[in-house]
Amino acid sequence: RILLEVRDLSAIVAESRQEILRGVNLIINEGEVHAIMGKNGSGKSTFAKVLVGHPDYEVTGGTVSFKGEDLLNMEPEMRSHAGVFMSFQSPVEIPGVSNMDFLLMACNARREKRGEPALSPIEFFGFLSPKLVAVNMNPKFLDRNVNEGFSGGEKKRNEILQLAVLEAELAILDEIDSGLDVDALQDVAKAVNGLLTPHKSLLMITHYQRLLDYIKPSYVHIMEAGAIVRTGSFSLAKQLEKEGYRSVSVA
Ligand code: ADP
Ligand code: MG
Ligand code: MG
Repeated sequence: RILLEVRDLSAIVAESRQEILRGVNLIINEGEVHAIMGKNGSGKSTFAKVLVGHPDYEVTGGTVSFKGEDLLNMEPEMRSHAGVFMSFQSPVEIPGVSNMDFLLMACNARREKRGEPALSPIEFFGFLSPKLVAVNMNPKFLDRNVNEGFSGGEKKRNEILQLAVLEAELAILDEIDSGLDVDALQDVAKAVNGLLTPHKSLLMITHYQRLLDYIKPSYVHIMEAGAIVRTGSFSLAKQLEKEGYRSVSVA
């Protein structure tokens, strides 16, 4: 079943009118893991941000459907409630708000949109416990303020916990490997892998092949100058690692 279908998506920077995305095409089915790779400045983050409705960009052409619905017509918040999750390159700290309260609030906001009754804090803890195990997160992090004083790897894993709580069908992870040493990267990858089910799909954005050694994609796409110019299997990422971006460029 098709989860996300992107057709000829074009977008500009709203302020400068600079064209960034030039006809992106992508289909993600339920349960698939996709990776988008590409040189710095090729438009990967812009693509992710346009999918979640970031206000810096304006769509100038094309269509995006998510679970058969017109994603581009939805407000950013609605996209999240519909089941699209995006992790940010630098997660924000929220002083004075505990991780537990934040997660409970996010969880109940999505439940409300789906017409489900809110969970009490005790019910929520029951819902959360197996997810803490899945993402290998120590429960003591629940009492800490959101991301305050977390290490880079802990912040990334906390994002994965948010993803687990929201039970998003499509997770877009933009450079979750950035700034992590190998041990932290393995922890984050383990957390992501612990969440993958036949019904969840993943779009990983990364400059480096390294991440894909730990989270195996079913498809690897190369983005260049605002479009996906090649699609292949994991071996395409391996080729990139050996021969560099020039070897896969169409320019
Ligand atoms: P990548 O994630 O592949 O490194 P980006 O999507 O971040 O690439 O950026 C693609 C191009 O668009 C870059 O040239 C970048 O400077 C430009 N760009 C992206 N967002 C903005 C913005 N908000 N304002 C101005 N230029 C932008
Ligand atoms: Mg970049
Ligand atoms: Mg980027």
